[in-house]
Amino acid sequence: MSGRLYIVGLGPGSEAMRTPEAEAALVKADDLVGYEPYLARVAERPGQRRYASDNRVELDRARHALTLAAEGRTVAVCSGGDAGVFAMAAAVFEAVEQGDPVWRALEIEVVAGVSAMFAAAARLGAPLGGDFCAISLSDNLKPWDVVLKRLTAAAQAGFAIALYNPLSRARPWQLGAAFEALREVLPGSTPVAFAAAISRPDEAVRVAELQAADPAWADMRTLVLIGAATTRLVARPEGRPWLYTPRSAAEEA
Ligand code: SAH
Repeated sequence: MSGRLYIVGLGPGSEAMRTPEAEAALVKADDLVGYEPYLARVAERPGQRRYASDNRVELDRARHALTLAAEGRTVAVCSGGDAGVFAMAAAVFEAVEQGDPVWRALEIEVVAGVSAMFAAAARLGAPLGGDFCAISLSDNLKPWDVVLKRLTAAAQAGFAIALYNPLSRARPWQLGAAFEALREVLPGSTPVAFAAAISRPDEAVRVAELQAADPAWADMRTLVLIGAATTRLVARPEGRPWLYTPRSAAEEA
């Protein structure tokens, strides 16, 4: 009997933002593998086994899931948001590339999910309506110099930027350093949005200008969105303005 491995993006939090295809994969799985808080979002099913692990051990977790699938089990590896965005899908393929050749013959299916940047953008308006990019501020897997270089290049090139992993208890200073670098290359009036815990009960959204943006407004559940030069606000009679980036960009000097 041959095993099967689903790599599932659970979406940003609420079940309403989980795709039916992801839900179907979770129902079919004999075994669930993932970081503990993500598994906690999946309903318990009789007979299904759960292997919860710590956040930092992605490659071990990927190998474990592949080993279970190679034993003939149907396994779902769970990530938040989309599994391909700063998450488990790349770790699984890294393990396949380096690991037991038998793993290459396994049925592996990546199931798309709603990434935090799309959930956050939908709350804000249309900040990703023009060209944009996503950058993880975590320097666990790349040197901080590389993060800064990509950040300033993207800002200078006119991209709106979705910042993942803006800070954590172990990395308290990165977002402040990123804002400082961005202030060198972008106008102080550039809109910056803080979208926290989108689609969860404690969801919170805040919009500010880059010159006033305070890293203390973010935590590890926050997606920080940096506007492009063309990104603007549309005032409403009440409440937060819409944030949007026009689809067109003028030719640059
Ligand atoms: N694979 C995930 C991202 C994992 S990295 C995805 O596609 O969304 C973890 C980072 O994602 C967090 O530090 C935060 O920046 C962002 N994030 C995840 N869920 C979020 C949510 N519900 N609201 C806002 N940001 C979120």
